[in-house]
Amino acid sequence: MLLFVFYAILVWYGAFQGRRRVPGLCALALGIFALIVFNAVHFRVAQHFGYEQYVPIFRVLMYPYMVMVGLVGLFLVTLPIELPRGELHCKACRYDLTDLKAEFKEGAPCPECGATEEEAATRAGRRLARKRLHAQNKIKPDPLPGLRLRPER
Ligand SMILES: [Zn+2]
Repeated sequence: MLLFVFYAILVWYGAFQGRRRVPGLCALALGIFALIVFNAVHFRVAQHFGYEQYVPIFRVLMYPYMVMVGLVGLFLVTLPIELPRGELHCKACRYDLTDLKAEFKEGAPCPECGATEEEAATRAGRRLARKRLHAQNKIKPDPLPGLRLRPER
């Protein structure tokens, strides 16, 4: 029974993490779809073992549960992505560009992800910038570069 609680939390977590984006909707749709499949499979199992007359008792709980998972998930997936204060943000990584407005408008890249204004305007450009940022975050930091006596070869 506890499994239902964990399952709901898992679906809601996915919906919340991907909120206002396609992954969040996918997580919610997949979560509901899996419940529908589970419900159908359970009926088949009941038929096989000959207790299908008791299935409605289970469904009295199952259907409200599905509605609850769906409604709360829908609420979470539509929650706004909170933006830090500022009037201009990079559309790719949401970095606050308020103080760099003039430079950015002239075509300078975002210091966080390297996307220019025109790159950040298209979906493909934003994806590219996010990939670049992700790859950059995986590079290990240089250990104490200021303390090195000789440049490394
Ligand atoms: Zn950026």
